[in-house]
Amino acid sequence: MKGLLYHARCKACGKTFGANTRSELLSKLRKHLWRFHRAMMISKIKAGQRKAKRKKELRIEGNPSWFDPSFIGFAERPLIEKVTGQPYEAVKSKVLDFMVSMILGGIKKP
Ligand SMILES: [Zn+2]
Repeated sequence: MKGLLYHARCKACGKTFGANTRSELLSKLRKHLWRFHRAMMISKIKAGQRKAKRKKELRIEGNPSWFDPSFIGFAERPLIEKVTGQPYEAVKSKVLDFMVSMILGGIKKP
């Protein structure tokens, strides 16, 4: 981990990650989450959908630049549609909100 600018810790299992760029770190963490915590990701996405039904406007804390569409990779897209039974576009903001809060919570800023 020494020399790497960005560090993150998986909230679910405590594994740590390091990278020199934020996008590299996000990509590592995202891959890890889907690979090792898929069931949790799916249940959180579903929970997020229910929450969003009650609360129409989800307020997103943090840096808006985290919310670029590339944040969710191509691999997640069909999975998210399968899980939610809705077009990806319809659930995108809720899924992003969840993923960002999940990932941001584990990242230490340099
Ligand atoms: Zn983990």
